Amino acid sequence: MEYEGQICRAPMERSSFMLPIMVGCSYNRCRFCNLFRHLEYRELPFEQIEGELARVKNVGGRPRRIFLGDGNAFAQKTGRLMHILKLIRQYFPECEEINMDATVTSILRRSDAELEAFRKLGVRHLYLGIESGLDDVLALMEKDHDQGQAYEAIRRLQRAGMVYDAHIMTGVAGKGRGLENARALAGFLNRTQPAHVVNFSMFLHKEVPLYQNILDGSFTPASEWENLVEERSLIEQLTSDILYDGFHDYIEFRVRGRLPKDKAKMLARLDKVIEETPENEVYSYVQGECPALVRCDGKSVWQNV
Ligand code: SF4
Repeated sequence: MEYEGQICRAPMERSSFMLPIMVGCSYNRCRFCNLFRHLEYRELPFEQIEGELARVKNVGGRPRRIFLGDGNAFAQKTGRLMHILKLIRQYFPECEEINMDATVTSILRRSDAELEAFRKLGVRHLYLGIESGLDDVLALMEKDHDQGQAYEAIRRLQRAGMVYDAHIMTGVAGKGRGLENARALAGFLNRTQPAHVVNFSMFLHKEVPLYQNILDGSFTPASEWENLVEERSLIEQLTSDILYDGFHDYIEFRVRGRLPKDKAKMLARLDKVIEETPENEVYSYVQGECPALVRCDGKSVWQNV
């Protein structure tokens, strides 16, 4: 199948069979996100999806994990998603789990019986864009949920037997608010206990709506140093059993490990990079598409090539 868009999935899904069932994101409103802005959202026809399943089966594929793409696949209409899950079972009865991204509201609009039915059809991990622990930040970023709704959605999906994983974003609260966000987010994650936490530290694109907030002064980005300090504080406060993976693309730094076992090691790595990173390094505003980017001055800005 020809893939349209940018492949973006949690690192723990890197070996899953990626099965697109739609193009783009049906929500497409988060102010920092440019993944699918250039694409008109559409659902792929069943024949195309089934054709891809048949193709993989015919070349001897026997996937144990399947990841449904693209952004927010769980928001598909209930009947349509169930049909796709049944098709997968038909082609790959040995498949152990079917995972995908979800928004909080795509969970809340389902009944308990529907959530249970999804789990029985193989849905296991739902990756939720939690991003921040602060309601005013979620509102500014135009996420489709507040903290209360997120607690409710996670409680219901866990009760239905599914696993929740959290996407977060250091820097999302802006300059001067990293530690406040870390405190709030740690409280949220300690209560909701995700299996995985993936931090894609903020990496802004000039074409996203949030860039307008920077221009009009309603959002001031944090420095990369501040994002690292925020992540250190967050990890220090996390108490539950979590597989944590944090990416800071701008400085090409990654910190990962299982908490709480690897906490000391992870904090030491962060301490080292915090020490080495200049405190006021300006946040990079990316221009162009990610695969064609280089640092243009070796310091603070990237440019398209
Ligand atoms: S739901 Fe995910 S893919 Fe869709 S706009 Fe928000 S961050 Fe981007």
